[in-house]
Amino acid sequence: MDKKYKLCFEFVPDGCWYSNLRSVMPGAWKTIRKNVVARAGGRCAICGAPSARLEAHERWEYDEKHAVQRLKDVIAVCPDCHAVIHYGRTSLKGDARAAEEHFMRVNGCSYAEMRAALGAANADHIRRNALPEWSLDVGKAADYL
Ligand SMILES: [Zn+2]
Repeated sequence: MDKKYKLCFEFVPDGCWYSNLRSVMPGAWKTIRKNVVARAGGRCAICGAPSARLEAHERWEYDEKHAVQRLKDVIAVCPDCHAVIHYGRTSLKGDARAAEEHFMRVNGCSYAEMRAALGAANADHIRRNALPEWSLDVGKAADYL
């Protein structure tokens, strides 16, 4: 992930597919999702666009030395930003082009810069996939309950 952009491609390592709040703490996730969206004031936390369809998104950081996937925060995002974040899934649905355009618009960057960010996210993904197993740290979830 490239830290200089406010909207980033976020690829979860393959070993982490089921490591999300929804599956780890399904009851709490409903409350977290509701609280995060309620506190957002109807605006996307990334692009600032007003949206009646905000979605809660978990952001993770990866401690590659200790193979820990740690919850960083949970934010309310609009469907367009969420489609960029989950670019892999979005591409499979055939919507890659719209997601790429939204990335460039929100971040004010060129096509080449967007492609470079995508390449960097892919490189992170491949490197993290080399670790067979990640442990999960969701301590931060308590902040949203
Ligand atoms: Zn947005």
